[in-house]
Amino acid sequence: MIEVLIESRAVKLTTRTGIEVRRTLPHAKLKTIGAWCFVDHFGPTTQTDGMVVAAHPHTGLQTVTWLLEGEIEHRDSIGSVQIIRPGELNLMTAGHGISHSELSLANSETLHAVQLWVALPKEALDIAPEFEHQANLPRFDSDNYSGTVLAGEFMGHKAPTKIFSEMVGVELRIPAWEDVILPIRTDFEYGVLAIQGSAKVSGNEVPTSSLFYLAPGSKSLEIKTENEPVTLMVLGGVPFPEKILMWWNFIGRSHEDVARAREEWNSRNPRFGKFEDKIGGWIPAPDLPNVTLQPR
Ligand code: MN
Repeated sequence: MIEVLIESRAVKLTTRTGIEVRRTLPHAKLKTIGAWCFVDHFGPTTQTDGMVVAAHPHTGLQTVTWLLEGEIEHRDSIGSVQIIRPGELNLMTAGHGISHSELSLANSETLHAVQLWVALPKEALDIAPEFEHQANLPRFDSDNYSGTVLAGEFMGHKAPTKIFSEMVGVELRIPAWEDVILPIRTDFEYGVLAIQGSAKVSGNEVPTSSLFYLAPGSKSLEIKTENEPVTLMVLGGVPFPEKILMWWNFIGRSHEDVARAREEWNSRNPRFGKFEDKIGGWIPAPDLPNVTLQPR
């Protein structure tokens, strides 16, 4: 698979309001892009109070929240309380286990965000949980594009974000009627997600919320815009060398890993901590399917 266009599918978040998100990863044709393993795009919506996700756990991954519009309050079981605004990054490293909640605040006209997960390599699966907020990420400007580096390094600009594998995440903004050629790493695979407008990426039309995948080997990424400015997320990395097992909000390496995490969350085991928030309650893990889950 050299190139593939992944069209998003609508999913309902486990929230009280049932806000709809558009998911491109994981997909039947594509499991990961580097360590990136989950890509959700939601909004823009005027339902700015629409994200009400009560306490839920994570293991074995990092969550990345990136806002284009709106405000979201994050709270977690290691004591973090952080409002995130456009251009800022919330990064939560679950490691062995953490729980958190997310609540959008109706302080703006619209809510528009992406939420991404990064798989942790096996040596980091059981590390202590961490949370970081980045409000001053490196930005770059050129005549016909500008960008912000969320994670890793892009065109000489390096984000301070803590990551555990060779990967990169960039928000790229390109005005209408431009043709931009960006150098990329040949050992990385890439995904380009259109979050505002649509663009042609390496000759392929990428509609809003769709993701274009490019296998390792290319030296550059060509992006052409037409009659509207475009905002894209460029996600890349060395192809993830391990099979992972992703089930509900957990990533492990075996059925036993996720079954134990599920049992410990549902029995309120101290593994996932506790915290107070304005939402109240917690989201129980669903039943496991009646088969032994396999890493893929
Ligand atoms: Mn979460």
